[in-house]
Amino acid sequence: MTTHYFSPGPATLPAAVRDLVKLELLDTFGFGVSVMEISHRSKQYEKLNEETLKLAQDVFEVPSSHKLLITPFGAQQHFSLLIHHLSRPGDTLAYTETGVWAHLATVDAKASQRKVEVVYDGAPALNSLGNQAQWNIPENAKYLHLTVNNTVEGTEYSSLEFPGKVPLVLDMTSALASRRDIPWDRTHLIYASAQKNFGIAGCSIVIIKNEIFEQARETAKQNLLGNALNYCSIFDAKSALNTPPVFPIFVTNRYLHWMKSVGGIETMEQWAKERARLIYSEIDDAFYKGHAVAEHRSRHNFVFKLQTPELDALFVAEAQKEGIFEIKGYRTLGGVRASMYNGISLESAQYFAHFMRAFKAKHG
Ligand SMILES: *Cc1c(COP(=O)(O)O)cnc(C)c1O
Repeated sequence: MTTHYFSPGPATLPAAVRDLVKLELLDTFGFGVSVMEISHRSKQYEKLNEETLKLAQDVFEVPSSHKLLITPFGAQQHFSLLIHHLSRPGDTLAYTETGVWAHLATVDAKASQRKVEVVYDGAPALNSLGNQAQWNIPENAKYLHLTVNNTVEGTEYSSLEFPGKVPLVLDMTSALASRRDIPWDRTHLIYASAQKNFGIAGCSIVIIKNEIFEQARETAKQNLLGNALNYCSIFDAKSALNTPPVFPIFVTNRYLHWMKSVGGIETMEQWAKERARLIYSEIDDAFYKGHAVAEHRSRHNFVFKLQTPELDALFVAEAQKEGIFEIKGYRTLGGVRASMYNGISLESAQYFAHFMRAFKAKHG
């Protein structure tokens, strides 16, 4: 039986990428050396690295107004690092409380002796992102921090238009490489770890606006951040300041090649919308109760409940018998969460939608 693995992250890779990684693992460069072994200063690795950086800029459609780097950190390290690059103690920062990850980002900001204004708090329901047009964002805030897709709660901004002119900082960990409507002019920084939409755990992408780059370097130094934690030093060293996580970067390279070959983010976005349409049309059928309000539904994480916790558990158990795994809801939310990132095929989404229909026919 085919396995359909809908984990929230790390997540299923495209089958073509998995196969290629297996094929190339032990002799990656054609002279009997694996990417796991090769010196990161060898010409073969340097070529792979440079190609990955160029491909990422290209596939993620990053304009020339922004620089892109690859870091060995995860998204949670960026919660803290970005504060130290973009602000000084006493500065005002604007944050949004839209879910588990957004909350942890806010906690780090509050712990860093900044004045933190929470401009939107969706707790306790966390099923909506509110009315952005009504947000009161302090004009002197260094930035507004947003979690574009709330992975746990299954909510996502349908538009990235926000009132005022305060620069944006975007956590795009579960959204980069699947939507094209990034307001680049206003965006000072984007970060995303790879293991959801474009790779495996162990590396992450940071994108910084050129205009603030040198200021960020100095601010990080003033905040006493070490050289190897400075985004600008990492960028200067072509994202290989210290020994980089070569294997995760290799997987991202092959993932980027695959995305490019099937039509880039435009295709990724289309497929994400199509997967979402398939699943939400089952959820809209009243037997399943969707968590998110319709206008803020995630295209990646489908969170819903059945009539009782017992039926939720039965759904998860029966799904497993059909080869569907890792769909139990997050512990604080309960219910079901099926996550479908760029690596999930349309066929797999159809299979799950079909299972939902069959389960309803049997138990509805
Ligand atoms: C998964 C996730 C994180 C945490 O990522 P790590 O790389 O494990 O630190 C942060 N933000 C969002 C939106 C996520 O989905």
